[in-house]
Amino acid sequence: MNTITTERSALPITIRNVTKTYGNVYALDDVDLDVSSGEFITLLGPSGSGKTTLLMVLSGFNRPDSGSVRFGDSEVIRLSPHKREVGMVFQNYALFPHMDVNNNVAFPLKLRKVSKPEIAERVSKVLDLVKLSGLGERRISQLSGGQRQRVALARAIVFEPRILLMDEPLSALDKNLREHMQIELRRLHEMLGMTTVYVTHDQREALTMSDRVVVVNHGRLIQIDQPKQLYERPLSKFVASFIGESTFLPVSIANGQATLNGRSITLAEAPHSSDSDQLLLLRPEKLEILPGGPNPEYNCFKGKVQDLVYQGESFLLYVDLDDGPEVSLRSPTRREVLDSVPDKGGDVTIGMHPEDTVIVSEDDS
Ligand code: ADP
Ligand code: MG
Repeated sequence: MNTITTERSALPITIRNVTKTYGNVYALDDVDLDVSSGEFITLLGPSGSGKTTLLMVLSGFNRPDSGSVRFGDSEVIRLSPHKREVGMVFQNYALFPHMDVNNNVAFPLKLRKVSKPEIAERVSKVLDLVKLSGLGERRISQLSGGQRQRVALARAIVFEPRILLMDEPLSALDKNLREHMQIELRRLHEMLGMTTVYVTHDQREALTMSDRVVVVNHGRLIQIDQPKQLYERPLSKFVASFIGESTFLPVSIANGQATLNGRSITLAEAPHSSDSDQLLLLRPEKLEILPGGPNPEYNCFKGKVQDLVYQGESFLLYVDLDDGPEVSLRSPTRREVLDSVPDKGGDVTIGMHPEDTVIVSEDDS
């Protein structure tokens, strides 16, 4: 199975105080990050947040104004890209259109003066790994988008780099193929074990693929966590609204206790920050309809039914809160739940379990 796994081990990456400015724009603002050996870590953030710049600093194509990047024990900040021995996959494939698949994949090996028979063997193995066996003689123009992306991946891993960098590699593919490739890339990573830094602006892709996700905004790393922790325990409004759907209610915090319009909110964990003004996070799937009215086991909110949108396996209920904005609640369409929904305009109580009740800060510093 492990056709191209190397005896060489994966390398950890240590990034310290990396800053890169363009005029007065901080593309990267004093970035620190530790990536463990063999880890799959994803940079997630809106367009222009600095993801590509950070990846390019790792690859060596971009020299930061200041800071340090180490691969294992070696400082690489002054090393040129080809001496860093990292594999790279880009969104637009960056393949050589006039060459066939074999020659595209062989390119990094030719650069490294690998012998012809060994090139043939390694190209054949890696094409097998990315499920392109038999297509070696095709021209790039004769391949589908998914196949081109596999060629780009094969070319990035054929020389057995210890670090793999990928910048939005799947964003040109349609949704079904993209989801399929996400799982394949994950499996390939499990097999090969390369330290991988992946870039996407797609939150679901980041949660699906990664050991840890780094949320980036304005050149700063806002939160770094495992996918479940990031989704269930976002620290700031920015992270909560970037990952998943959310509505926020202003709450007051004193002595680790939260109150909403004078009513106490029960929390499983004390708020992360001690600021007095913070936000209660309401996610549609964390809210439940309480047909019997307020229930002491939940944080309860009263409101009026605004709308019910039936969507097949689930429905969305829009509720106008008596002391707040409109919120949405998502629930599976089990009959007893659907039957418990009052008509439009009717009074309804909704609740959120304390374990699901999270307080986030207004800003992300
Ligand atoms: P992302 O990949 O997250 O979309 P980038 O790293 O490409 O973001 O860009 C981060 C910021 O740096 C943006 O404001 C972008 O306009 C700016 N930037 C990136 N490259 C250059 C460049 N070569 N010249 C000027 N500004 C740049
Ligand atoms: Mg980018």
